[in-house]
Amino acid sequence: MHSLKQYWVAEALERDLGDPGNPDSVMSFQQVVALDEQEEFPEALLNWLYNWKLNHYYIPTECSGEFTSFEEFVAFVRVMSRRDLTTSISFTTLFWSYLVWMAGTEEQKQRLASFIKDHNGAMCLAYSERAHGSDLVGSDVQATKVPGGYLLNGEKWPINRATISGVSFVLAKTDESGGARSLSLFMVEKKQLDPNSYYNLPKLLTHGIRGSDMSGIGFKDCFIPESSLIGAEGAGLEWALKGFQVTRALCAAFSQGAADTALRTTLNFALNRQLYGKTVFDMPQPRRTLVDAFLDILICDCATIGAARGFHVVPEQFSVWSAVVKYFVTTQLESMVADVSVVLGARYYMRDAHDWGIFQKVVRDNAIISVFDGSTVVNLHALLLQLRQLAKQRSRQRGKNLEALQARLADCFSLEQSVPTFDGRKLELFSRGADDVLQGLELTLAQLQTLEADPDLNPAVLEQIVSFTHLLLEELNALDHSLEHSTFEFGHDQSPELFDLAKQYCTLHAAAACIHMWLHNRHHLGAFFAQGEWLALCLRRLALKFRPAHSLASRINDEAIAQELLRLYQEDKLFSIVPFQLATSKVQGDQTNATSELQLQA
Ligand SMILES: Cc1cc2nc3c(=O)[nH]c(=O)nc-3n(C[C@H](O)[C@H](O)[C@H](O)COP(=O)(O)OP(=O)(O)OC[C@H]3O[C@@H](n4cnc5c(N)ncnc54)[C@H](O)[C@@H]3O)c2cc1C
Repeated sequence: MHSLKQYWVAEALERDLGDPGNPDSVMSFQQVVALDEQEEFPEALLNWLYNWKLNHYYIPTECSGEFTSFEEFVAFVRVMSRRDLTTSISFTTLFWSYLVWMAGTEEQKQRLASFIKDHNGAMCLAYSERAHGSDLVGSDVQATKVPGGYLLNGEKWPINRATISGVSFVLAKTDESGGARSLSLFMVEKKQLDPNSYYNLPKLLTHGIRGSDMSGIGFKDCFIPESSLIGAEGAGLEWALKGFQVTRALCAAFSQGAADTALRTTLNFALNRQLYGKTVFDMPQPRRTLVDAFLDILICDCATIGAARGFHVVPEQFSVWSAVVKYFVTTQLESMVADVSVVLGARYYMRDAHDWGIFQKVVRDNAIISVFDGSTVVNLHALLLQLRQLAKQRSRQRGKNLEALQARLADCFSLEQSVPTFDGRKLELFSRGADDVLQGLELTLAQLQTLEADPDLNPAVLEQIVSFTHLLLEELNALDHSLEHSTFEFGHDQSPELFDLAKQYCTLHAAAACIHMWLHNRHHLGAFFAQGEWLALCLRRLALKFRPAHSLASRINDEAIAQELLRLYQEDKLFSIVPFQLATSKVQGDQTNATSELQLQA
């Protein structure tokens, strides 16, 4: 078992699901690809997960469940997602229950907990409408007040699990005059409804996650009791946006599971495919692509795991952190999957020529993660509205309250430290300019400089880490400067240039998360993590988003990264800064044919 307890649930789930490369395992690649081809809802797989009681981990302990930390949650969602995003996304709609854990009454919490635990209950989030997409305030679905409750009218579409679920969280208009306070949120329980007053829309045919219940739900004078209202009337948009802060950051776990499989299956190919008398992995270009893909996963890991812990420590900053992670991790890993597809060559385009066709399924399934739960532009937009205040606050706070900042960063990034209980009531719609990750960059630089005396560190590697941190700080200061002098107004018509600045902000935040993660875990995440070559290479990779390659310090030797990638592959460990044990595969021992230079020592 892993030394970090928060990874035990993920390891146990892995063990019981078994090797996905073995067709007889519970959620094998062969089985999930077959279900996808038939566009069949993975009901048996979901039932298996309920029988395993994974549903309990979606309910906080204070509401009689097993959920204790988002870090633990991210780890087990990766375990499901590396096998099948259709199942993982269908099961994880359970997480919309967070709306009730945050804003519901005691009675609602108990009802929902019992629905999930005792009745294998599932739910959907019914916000989108055909005519309004991202424009939630434009919603047409009405909830009209009547004695004892409300009458719902209108349609929600497209909604994941709208048909195959017992509860719909519906955002509806309770005030016809419109505006931010015109929406209210309802927990609509189908068993309480007159069956003639609601209907489901037909299954949608989608590019990926083909077996999902992608449909919709419509209401015609549908009576729902007053007890369905979550929070106060008119507070629907506020809770919807706060709920998104939780789920958007967690979407990163889907992408990371998918990315692991994309890399693992391509590596499997590259180690076995012989060309010109050697393996594909032994050729410098494909090897570099695979090493870079591994670096992408490590970068995203630092952002995702940092955010997962950050929820517990600085929930009030999540209007920023969550938008960053949802934009950065999902798009970075989408690009990574596209990059490694080149190594898979022609097999990438064939539906079943390699590992049962799991790669092409990952490509299609993974593409939705950056779209749903707030698309890339919606997240960048949410972030850019806060950029100017972030810049001002960074300048005001520079050099102040450093001890408190240092303590919060340690709580967020030290994986050995336990986190406080998450309190969703502390989420805020705006972070008021606070983002500890970037606020702490100067502090970090000072800490890095003290490491020069550390005899265990390679001075050349440390020098690169320090010089790239300097570069990031320069870019952050330049970004702050242009933001402080910008004249943008609030609203939806923001310039494309501001979207670019928001993207840069996300890159800087992810880079800083990598440095914080390294500094706080150098002594307990193993030799590969401690030596820091991965960090130097990750920072250089991110610096390339700001500067041309020829202006940067040259790339250090990536041999250690290639070796670690091989080691994790051969030992069936997750590609991660926390490489916990995956289900063991029987065939891996005889698969590595790379040259002795790159082979692991026994
Ligand atoms: C597989 C799948 C599952 C889904 N599951 C759910 C679900 O469970 N529940 C649910 O409620 N919805 C769900 N959705 C809906 C999804 O969240 C919407 O697709 C999303 O809200 C965007 O709406 P839209 O695609 O209609 O685009 P629109 O919002 O109509 O956007 C149209 C264009 O305007 C751009 N745009 C939008 N806002 C801005 C902005 N602020 N600044 C600049 N450009 C902008 C967009 O990028 C796009 O180019 C799902 C969709 C899919 C495909």
